[in-house]
Amino acid sequence: MAELEGLEFGKSDFVLLDEVTMEQFMDNLKLRFEKGRIYTFIGEVVVSVNPYKHLDIYGKEVIEDYRGRELYENPPHLFAVADAAYKAMKRRAKDTCIVISGESGAGKTEASKYIMQYIAAITNPNQRAEVESVKNVLLKSNCVLEAFGNAKTNRNDNSSRFGKYMDINFNFNGDPTGGHINNYLLEKSRVVQQQDGERNFHSFYQASNNDSLCHKAVMAALKVIGFTTEEISSIYKILSTILHLGNLQFTSDGEHVVLVGEDTVKHISELTSTEPENTRKALLYRTVATGGGEVIEKGHNEQEASYGRDAFAKALYERLFAWIVGRINSVIEVKDYNPALHGKNTVIGVLDIYGFEIFDNNSFEQFCINYCNEKLQQLFIELILRQEQDEYQREGITWQHIEYFNNQIIVDLVEQPHKGIISILDEACLTAGKVTDTVCLDSMNKKLGQHPHYTSRKVKREREYWIPIPVHWYSVEGFLDKNKDPLFQDFKRLMYNSSDHVLKEMWPDGKMSITEVTKRPLTAATLFKNSIIALVDKLACKEPYYVRCIKPNEVKSPLLFDDGRCQHQVAYLGLLENVRVRRAGFAYRQPYARFLQRYKMTCEYTWPNHLMSTDQEAVEAIVNQHGFEDDVAYGHTKLFVRTPRTLFTLEQERAALI
Ligand code: ADP
Ligand code: MG
Repeated sequence: MAELEGLEFGKSDFVLLDEVTMEQFMDNLKLRFEKGRIYTFIGEVVVSVNPYKHLDIYGKEVIEDYRGRELYENPPHLFAVADAAYKAMKRRAKDTCIVISGESGAGKTEASKYIMQYIAAITNPNQRAEVESVKNVLLKSNCVLEAFGNAKTNRNDNSSRFGKYMDINFNFNGDPTGGHINNYLLEKSRVVQQQDGERNFHSFYQASNNDSLCHKAVMAALKVIGFTTEEISSIYKILSTILHLGNLQFTSDGEHVVLVGEDTVKHISELTSTEPENTRKALLYRTVATGGGEVIEKGHNEQEASYGRDAFAKALYERLFAWIVGRINSVIEVKDYNPALHGKNTVIGVLDIYGFEIFDNNSFEQFCINYCNEKLQQLFIELILRQEQDEYQREGITWQHIEYFNNQIIVDLVEQPHKGIISILDEACLTAGKVTDTVCLDSMNKKLGQHPHYTSRKVKREREYWIPIPVHWYSVEGFLDKNKDPLFQDFKRLMYNSSDHVLKEMWPDGKMSITEVTKRPLTAATLFKNSIIALVDKLACKEPYYVRCIKPNEVKSPLLFDDGRCQHQVAYLGLLENVRVRRAGFAYRQPYARFLQRYKMTCEYTWPNHLMSTDQEAVEAIVNQHGFEDDVAYGHTKLFVRTPRTLFTLEQERAALI
């Protein structure tokens, strides 16, 4: 609370601003950042600004300060939200989730790690070995996922190039019993191509040993999780294979495409435990079924061969990553849980997923990422705003309607079956023959031209853009190819026939022969869409807690607060609307009985027991005695309190009495 810290640090909850304007919001955010107060509440939402420097606020003593306390009792902190989510889960047996959002470099992954560390620190007080081992694996999985899924980018030296949602399961004691990780859209194109100043995934540098300290840590983590020596060896052989593929070149002898560097092929076949002749063939030919059912081998041209090699390298890495996640899941999955014996199994989900990406040139990846963010924003709007309004209505409390932009229309524009952008893309991918990105764009223009949030424009002669969302432009160049994401069946078969069991396991679809491969695999956009819809369904049935991360500047400086960039983020995260809803409404609410139970000792008419006819009347007595009449409203079943200050005073009195 601001009162606890002193006002020189600004207001610790944006609901306490004198007026809800962008100016006041930004002033407060900036002041707090400059004073090293990087966290600020909006009710139960924590807004965080990346400090870009070490802060001594995550230690054991701080954890103890937050443990089991109410949200408004301490200064804003990630731990307060983690504790609120944990308490709701433990006390009320609710599944909860913590959604962490913000753009690249805003501090999401760090936040998710602090949250997990907090949960690990406050659970299992009796140090039971099996719980400790689960906690250890959960924590160590971060190290492995970062090695394989993170890379240095221009925005962030340790940027997660995948989205992560982790469920942590708890038993009735509130101790972790296991978990499950879902990963989303690994940026596999990074395996074969990086922008200037950026790097490939960390794992490649660790494997070639110019990063040996990290390598040791990852090896240790893999062992703790339970990866076998054979598995670890296979993982590093796959990384090596990908590096060798990068050295492989093709040229033409005038008639045929030939490989430059037969040695490389030899290495690759050794590393993948395949026959050199088969490896060579997969790199130079593809098997195709003719119309008459005949199977023939068709030689690649140079371009096809290079394309095939890159697609193979990307697929190897993507499957390796998915396999590692699956392997971790197999270790942490809750086994033999018997609800009759152990009580209800509850869950806290932690979502750390890429925020909006708006670059000078946005492509298919940004389209997917931004679509995902529109969905999450939609969920945020739905859960926080609508939920509040609905509750006031249900409770018979006067409610002043708040206008907000409902972005369902944009979500529909992207995902609607038959009509949406993804459908049109898929249709173009399924069409036989040469459909170019431009033809696909024409088709979109025709079908979506009338949509209020769609428009397209020609920027250069060869390049066109279209726009589904008011402020985002995308170049259609490469869209179809990235959506189709083709990989010759020959590579899949080659891997499936490997005598390396681990590798083979990653390629079950290589079992099919070319004549059996009739059904087209789902496109990248559709796979992503399905996974995001499933994610949203998962989140929607949990009680949500939010951490909204802001990146203060583009240069990773602890001193610079770039007003323009920050304001932009505050705007698209919808934070001002969030404050308005919190203020128009009430910051706090609680069923009468629960409120009474907690505060009855602060009023002579209710302690130890009240003689009134209802709990509501008893609560009124407490409120009146403290002079809080103007700050509350009485619902059908709950008391609504406008400002956290009131609660704070009651808490203090209560603490003084017990
Ligand atoms: P995101 O996941 O949003 O892309 P990260 O969590 O990886 O961003 O944060 C980027 C970098 O910013 C980190 O590597 C770290 O240097 C710094 N950082 C983020 N949060 C904090 C924090 N709470 N304290 C200190 N430094 C931080
Ligand atoms: Mg990250």
